[in-house]
Amino acid sequence: MRIGYGWDSHEFKAGIPLRIGGVTLPHSHGLGGHSDGDVLLHALTDALLGAVAAPDIGTLFPPSDAKWKGADSAVFLREALARASAAGYSIINVDSTLILAAPKIGPHAAAIRESVAKLLNIPSNCVGLKAKTPEGMGTDNAAIAHAVVLLREKP
Ligand code: MG
Repeated sequence: MRIGYGWDSHEFKAGIPLRIGGVTLPHSHGLGGHSDGDVLLHALTDALLGAVAAPDIGTLFPPSDAKWKGADSAVFLREALARASAAGYSIINVDSTLILAAPKIGPHAAAIRESVAKLLNIPSNCVGLKAKTPEGMGTDNAAIAHAVVLLREKP
């Protein structure tokens, strides 16, 4: 078995779509970044890549490369999944925590878990998602995501 861990943060910017876990959430601000800023998919991508000791997301998809401007972050996650699979592993489960002041994730949690499950080809009861507000952190202008993944060797 293998374990992987990923972390990411993006800054809120007014007037752009908010993408979290491949889902567009209704909100006044989205997450800035070179790609679509999907902080959760970026953390999951790094968790998967880390689990098989592959290069990290920034190395595989450098922000300096114009090709990734505005990219759907599902592309990054699919590549990480392909690398894990090529290394001989499949996913047992993933778990994640989002830390953001707004919007409330609760009403969207099921849709986000469903979306991530679909992208990873695993059942949604194998996708954990918790949401926290950044109490005392002074990071209300950012969204932060932590993710862990557990892999098993394919038969
Ligand atoms: Mg990122």
